[in-house]
Amino acid sequence: MKCDVAIVGGGIIGSAAAFFLAVAGSAGRIVVIEPDSTYARAATPAGAGGVRRLMSRPENIRMSQFSLDFFAGFAETMVSDDDPADIAFRRQGYLFLTDADGVDALTQNFETQSSEGVPAELLDVDALRARFPSIGTDNVALACHSPQDGWIDPHAALMGFRKKAQSLGVEFLKDRVIALETSPTAVTGAELESGQKLQADCFINVAGAWVGEIAAMTGARLPVVPMCRVQHFWRCAHDVEPLPLVKDDSGAFFRPEGDGFAGGRPSWDIEPGFNWDVDRGYFATYFEDTVWQLLANMVPKFEEIRLERTWAGHYAQNTLDGNMIIGRYSNGHENLLTACGFSGHGIMHAPAVGRALSELVLHGEYRTIDLTRMEFDRVLENEPYAEIGIK
Ligand SMILES: Cc1cc2nc3c(=O)[nH]c(=O)nc-3n(C[C@H](O)[C@H](O)[C@H](O)COP(=O)(O)OP(=O)(O)OC[C@H]3O[C@@H](n4cnc5c(N)ncnc54)[C@H](O)[C@@H]3O)c2cc1C
Repeated sequence: MKCDVAIVGGGIIGSAAAFFLAVAGSAGRIVVIEPDSTYARAATPAGAGGVRRLMSRPENIRMSQFSLDFFAGFAETMVSDDDPADIAFRRQGYLFLTDADGVDALTQNFETQSSEGVPAELLDVDALRARFPSIGTDNVALACHSPQDGWIDPHAALMGFRKKAQSLGVEFLKDRVIALETSPTAVTGAELESGQKLQADCFINVAGAWVGEIAAMTGARLPVVPMCRVQHFWRCAHDVEPLPLVKDDSGAFFRPEGDGFAGGRPSWDIEPGFNWDVDRGYFATYFEDTVWQLLANMVPKFEEIRLERTWAGHYAQNTLDGNMIIGRYSNGHENLLTACGFSGHGIMHAPAVGRALSELVLHGEYRTIDLTRMEFDRVLENEPYAEIGIK
C-alpha cells in the first residue's frame, strides 16, 4: 500500500494533523495508523480538557490562542453528516493561585500574556475573596484570572477531528506500526502488525506516550517518556459558586464537571512508565494521603466530599524541559516528523500543532506560528525551554 503522508498514532494530535492536511487539499493520500479506535489507553480521553493562555512562553500562548478560537468555532467548522461535533466548550475561565514564592513568576507571566493580548487580571487576596468566596486564601499571595479561557470534552474533540478528516478522505487503518524501513536519507516504509506494508513520502510520529518506541525504530532517541497521571471525580457536600479551572503552584487543579468536580495533582516523584492499576500500590492511597488536602486548601468546602472515581492516563513528558518537540528529529531522515512531549498541554495545543505539522509537510516551514524554538535542535544543544512558574 502506498500513500503520501502516513501518520503514526490517531490521538488528538494525529487526528488534528490529518484534518489540517486534508483541508489544505494538496497533501494527496493521507493514512492514519491507529490500533485502538476506542482510545482506551490513549492520553486524550483521560485529559481534563483545559484550554488556557496562562502560559509563559510566547509560542505556547500563541498556540493556545489559536486553539481557543478554533475550539470556540469547532461545532461549525467540524460538523459532518452524522455528527454535530459538540465538544462541550465552556468558557468558564482559569484561575492560578500562588504563594509568596511564586509572585514574581506569576507577575512576569502576566506581563508576557498581556503583551500577547490575553485578557487576564491579577487579583490580590481581597479581590480574590470578593470574586470567588469559596476559594481558600490561607496559602495564597496572588492570583491570576483569565475569564475567557475554559475547557472542552477532549474525547469529543478527538472524534470531531477524526470524523471530519475521514469525511475529507483520510483513511484510518486499525493497525499498529511495528517497524520502520529506512534508506540512508529517508524512512521508506512501515511494517504493520497485520503484516501489511505501507510506503509513504512522509511519516509523522505522533504516538503520544509511545513516541519513543517509534523513534527507536529508526535508531533515533527522543527524550520523551510515559508519565502516569491520575485524575479523580468527586462530589462536594456543600454548594460552591461556579468556578473556573483552578490550579495552584503545588500542581493541584480541579474544574467543575457536571454536578461534581474533576481534578487531581501530578505525582511528581513516580518513575516514568505505564501504570494502569490505580487501586494498588502507589496510587491506592494517593488521593487520601496527598491530593485531598491540597484540594481542601484551594476550596475549604472540599473537606467534605465523596470521591467517586479515579482513573489513570499517561502523558508524554519531555525530560529536557516538559515542553513540546516538533519537526524533524531522526538523523538524516528528512521525511520523518514528530510532535510530542506535551505533558499536560496536548489537548489545548492540538489545533495549532495539527496546523503546524501540515505546514511542515506541505511547505517545509511554518506559515503561521513560528515554532522553531520548539524543535529538536534544543535537545541536541541541551538548551531547555521550560515553562516558568505554574506549569
Ligand atoms: C490526567 C491527564 C490530564 C490532562 N489534562 C490536560 C488538560 O487539561 N489540557 C491539555 O491540553 N492536556 C491535558 N493532558 C495532556 C493531553 O491529554 C495529551 O497531551 C494529549 O492527549 C496528547 O495527545 P496525543 O495524540 O499526542 O496522544 P494520545 O492521545 O495518547 O494518542 C497517541 C495514539 O498513538 C497510538 N499508538 C501507540 N503506539 C502506536 C503504534 N505503534 N502504531 C500506531 N499507533 C500507535 C495510541 O493507540 C494512541 O491512540 C492531560 C493528560 C492526562 C494524562
